[in-house]
Amino acid sequence: HMVIIDEAVFSPSYVPERLPHREEQIQQLDALFGGWLRNPGRHYPRVVLLGRPGTGKTATLRRFWSTIKNETNVKFVHINCFIYRNFSTIIGEIAKSLNIPFPRRGLSKDEFLSLLIEHLRERDLYIFLALDDAFNLSADVLSTFIRLGQESDRLGAFRIALAVVGHSDSMINNLDPSTRGIMGKFVIRFPPYTRDQIFDIILERAQMGLAPGAYSDEVLQMIADLTGAQSPLDSSKGDARLAIDILYRSAYIAQQSGRRQITPEDVRRATKEVLFGVSEEVLRGLSLHEKLFLLAIVRALKSTNSPYVTFGDVEDMYKMICEEFDEKPRVHTQLWTYLSDLRDKGIVETRLNKRGEGVRGRTTLISIGSEPLDTLEAVVTKLIREELQ
Ligand code: ADP
Ligand code: MG
Repeated sequence: HMVIIDEAVFSPSYVPERLPHREEQIQQLDALFGGWLRNPGRHYPRVVLLGRPGTGKTATLRRFWSTIKNETNVKFVHINCFIYRNFSTIIGEIAKSLNIPFPRRGLSKDEFLSLLIEHLRERDLYIFLALDDAFNLSADVLSTFIRLGQESDRLGAFRIALAVVGHSDSMINNLDPSTRGIMGKFVIRFPPYTRDQIFDIILERAQMGLAPGAYSDEVLQMIADLTGAQSPLDSSKGDARLAIDILYRSAYIAQQSGRRQITPEDVRRATKEVLFGVSEEVLRGLSLHEKLFLLAIVRALKSTNSPYVTFGDVEDMYKMICEEFDEKPRVHTQLWTYLSDLRDKGIVETRLNKRGEGVRGRTTLISIGSEPLDTLEAVVTKLIREELQ
């Protein structure tokens, strides 16, 4: 009873040949970078790609690169800034992918940068640098890389083209005015996918990865309605990654039950396994102890009938969880920083208690409204295990 005939098509790193509804963005990339990539050196091409998670920014970059890579000698250096977040790890990654030996320490930032440019000139290399999910970088590190491309080498060649990827304008607005000016008008936007667009995307994925007859329009439409945006302005929805994930899980459930066809009930079950309000990407971006602290909130909430827990409850739970994972707990003040960050990212809600809520004095109450706690617990635990491996 094979429902899934090609697993690879559903893996997060798979980039399909065609990206429906991103033709315009690929064309914009070609307009900005095509000429330089074919004949590099005469200027500094640069762009910011902006859109919520799952709107195809990474896939579009990779697709664009694979269509043009045979026409250019430029090297593509793709940096995942979830993993590489500071200046020296990014420089290290660039050096590694270019195969250039780099001193690990003892140099200032500026010395590192001029060494990089010098290497590029000596070996006559050009790079197309993509800083993906660059909102993880400090404004300082980001602006260093943005300004880097502005310098031509001693022969007057511009060695670097730059694509910076982010979720929202705030990444750019946080830069100092002169750096902001450099990126200025070079912005490509990735609006949330609408229901119809998601339908097209998952239809193609189903055609590639599922047995013919395993899926119906009805089931695909159901997933598209759950995940697609009502309008391109509704950025609480429109995540193609989520839609593909639900499709894959539905297919898997059907297959495990020994059936040949995905039913609406399979979709409902699959939907309970995934997160809607918070993206897994954002959770992945939290530091290890922030994840442990979030897990503490989830477990504390699960252990009570009340919709709220106090900071004290969570702190006790956090200490137990640290023991469980063999980690040294962070100090009290650091935990408050985590809490306010989790609130800013929309993962938890907090408020001060009122009189008569069964808690003495004034204290902060913490709750999670957006996700089923079991799903959130499973996802966060999985991410923690991955990180501790
Ligand atoms: P982002 O980088 O914006 O978070 P991704 O490029 O990683 O999003 O896309 C998320 C998932 O959705 C990937 O599996 C990608 O292949 C798929 N995807 C996104 N946009 C499209 C599209 N237009 N057509 C087909 N698949 C898409
Ligand atoms: Mg991405």
